[in-house]
Amino acid sequence: MIKTKKETLKKNIEVDILIIGAGITGMTTAYFLKDLKNILIVDANRIGFGVTLNTTAKINYFQDNMYNKIIESSDEKVATKYLKSQLYAIKSIKKIIEEENIDCDFKKVKSYVFAKNKNDVRSLIKEVEFLRKNKIKIYEKDLPINIKSYKSFYVNDTYIFNPIKYLEGIYNIIKDKIPVYENTKIIKIESLWTHFNCYTINHIIKAKKVIIATHYPYFLSPLYLPFKSYIEKSYIVVSKVNKDLDFTCISNGRNSYSLRFYNDKQNIYQISLAENHNTAFKQNDDYHFDKVKNIFNIKDSDIVMKYTNVDIMTMDNLPFIGKLKNNMYIASGFNTWGMTNGILSARIISNMILNKPNIYKDIFNPNRFKLTDLKKLPYILFSQTKSFIGSKLYKNKPWYNSNLSFFYKKGKSLACYKDKNDVNHIIYNKCPHLGCSLIFNESEKTWDCPCHSSRFNIDGKCIKGPSNYDISYKER
Ligand SMILES: Cc1cc2nc3c(=O)[nH]c(=O)nc-3n(C[C@H](O)[C@H](O)[C@H](O)COP(=O)(O)OP(=O)(O)OC[C@H]3O[C@@H](n4cnc5c(N)ncnc54)[C@H](O)[C@@H]3O)c2cc1C
Repeated sequence: MIKTKKETLKKNIEVDILIIGAGITGMTTAYFLKDLKNILIVDANRIGFGVTLNTTAKINYFQDNMYNKIIESSDEKVATKYLKSQLYAIKSIKKIIEEENIDCDFKKVKSYVFAKNKNDVRSLIKEVEFLRKNKIKIYEKDLPINIKSYKSFYVNDTYIFNPIKYLEGIYNIIKDKIPVYENTKIIKIESLWTHFNCYTINHIIKAKKVIIATHYPYFLSPLYLPFKSYIEKSYIVVSKVNKDLDFTCISNGRNSYSLRFYNDKQNIYQISLAENHNTAFKQNDDYHFDKVKNIFNIKDSDIVMKYTNVDIMTMDNLPFIGKLKNNMYIASGFNTWGMTNGILSARIISNMILNKPNIYKDIFNPNRFKLTDLKKLPYILFSQTKSFIGSKLYKNKPWYNSNLSFFYKKGKSLACYKDKNDVNHIIYNKCPHLGCSLIFNESEKTWDCPCHSSRFNIDGKCIKGPSNYDISYKER
């Protein structure tokens, strides 16, 4: 998150526009709207604390197998429009960074997509054909790093940056016009005829327009996101290396391998990612981190950091961007490409508010419904049900392993983590969002919800949404 802490909201307030969420989406939307008066941004945590904190931050339109997937779920026309939207987003962020002189390590790199399995070669070639048909210059070349690959192509006009430095830059531009309140969580939005009442724990923000840029919107209706999406978790290992290489790469099949470098002028880091999976399945984090180490030949002594991150995957591979209902806008479901899609959302939503044209209204309409989506519905329902019921059934175990226990007390399902000093930390084992049981994340010492990725610390404090409440246990 960005360095300086901001104030928390301490009074009721009335605004024209409330932006909820200060990640890349919310902050860039504020940037585009900065000439309007009476706007406010609130964040449940800090600016840049959300998914934007742990992204690999590739600004790229050669997105593994994206165009094939969109052609399958929609058609070639939609895929072409999506491609144009990504190029437009890249142009927009480049313009902001260059015109505003934002120091955020923005750098042009080659971006490769490669087939790590023989079976993925055909779809890679198909993806390349689609891009070439759309006049994208694309080159076939071996990967400049030692990872098994059956075929690889790259494009030239893509970028990497440091998104937190970018947010710091945006904050410095807007701060005199748009206040940002941190540690100010919106727990309820009430729609009235003339405005919305947005509730924090202690105060009400009355807003004529609301922009929900919270990554995963916590409400169930009207979007019904839990039935239109699933959460994908990835494992990231950051290691020190000697050489800064000007490229990024990602594989195109299931379970992507992805890599970029970051040079902070003191050290060079390799950021390696793999093992992505639906949070409803496979949860042994150490196993997945070991796999990442092996895939990228990373030595233990070079590792600086390991963490996980999640993003929202939609049924038709297109984000939800735009008007949810009158005066309420949303940006979510970025399918792991939220740098371009966050910027694009900011552009689309600000254009809607400023009554400027928007050619993407139809393909990203958050209220869209496609018959083809029904194909994936059983998978989504199965994974949601598995997360909801599965963990409730098998987890009634005293000392499940040496430091975890799951038990019931006065009809409540509880879980306990015993720390290295043998202190017990008890929590309510039920996510306040939609009631799923939690899974302990050994590597990061958090309780994670397999359904929609809320995360709680060992004492039950909610550190990431969509839950709006803590699950700390108090003996009564
Ligand atoms: C492992 C991984 C790697 C990725 N790599 C790339 C990449 O290379 N390139 C790319 O384009 N994309 C990438 N992505 C996707 C991208 O990082 C995300 O889609 C993007 O950061 C989402 O930004 P956001 O602003 O919408 O959400 P966030 O950054 O999550 O911001 C949302 C903010 O809302 C706040 N909030 C939440 N609930 C509330 C509430 N109730 N009240 C107030 N505030 C609230 C949160 O505190 C948070 O600060 C990656 C994703 C993952 C998981």
